[in-house]
Amino acid sequence: MNLIIASNNANKVREIKQILGEIFANILTLKDAGINVDVEETGSTFLENAYIKAAEIMKIAPKGYAVLSDDSGLEVDYLNGAPGVFSARYAGEGHNDKLNNEKLLSELQGVEDQARTARFVCAMVLLSDDFPPIEVVGACEGRILHEPKGESGFGYDPLFYYPPLQKSFAELTAEEKNKVSHRSRALQMVRAELEKKLNQR
Ligand code: IMP
Repeated sequence: MNLIIASNNANKVREIKQILGEIFANILTLKDAGINVDVEETGSTFLENAYIKAAEIMKIAPKGYAVLSDDSGLEVDYLNGAPGVFSARYAGEGHNDKLNNEKLLSELQGVEDQARTARFVCAMVLLSDDFPPIEVVGACEGRILHEPKGESGFGYDPLFYYPPLQKSFAELTAEEKNKVSHRSRALQMVRAELEKKLNQR
């Protein structure tokens, strides 16, 4: 089986190859497949956005290729689930990781630890001509720190405290994060669903 990943992000691609490499003989990034599209994320949930991306790419993918897309972000309970699907552009115009983190800290100023619960969420959609769509949502629970901690990772990692390891995500190695992250949980769910579908054939 052949797969196109709706991403060019090297970290995501590596993780996806690790987990789905045994099932798909041939895994291509968008760049490998010569696909250059910017799909607008107009959905109101992570799953909707992942579906929109996968469906657009499926339309132009070479025949015989399945398409896997993901959409992810941070939900903070005190902020009623914000930044949610707006995680990448939370700080508005000129947004970047630093400005997004600063905005999050300012929105949570004065909020005590118990009320700072949050989760990273990752929705994944796998479309193929050979079986019905696979749609999964993986999550990882934690809470938002009062100041950034750690140097690794990206995005909101320095502000996301993961209680089971008593560290922020930015204090974990890539291997440690990949074992527990929302993305790896979603990928494991995709693999389980795929194996079920393939066994039914
Ligand atoms: P995307 O799904 O790659 O577009 O990610 C959306 C945004 O969510 C990113 O720009 C980050 O701000 C945030 N995000 C998603 N996953 C992570 C993560 O593992 N760590 C930190 N931030 C993340």
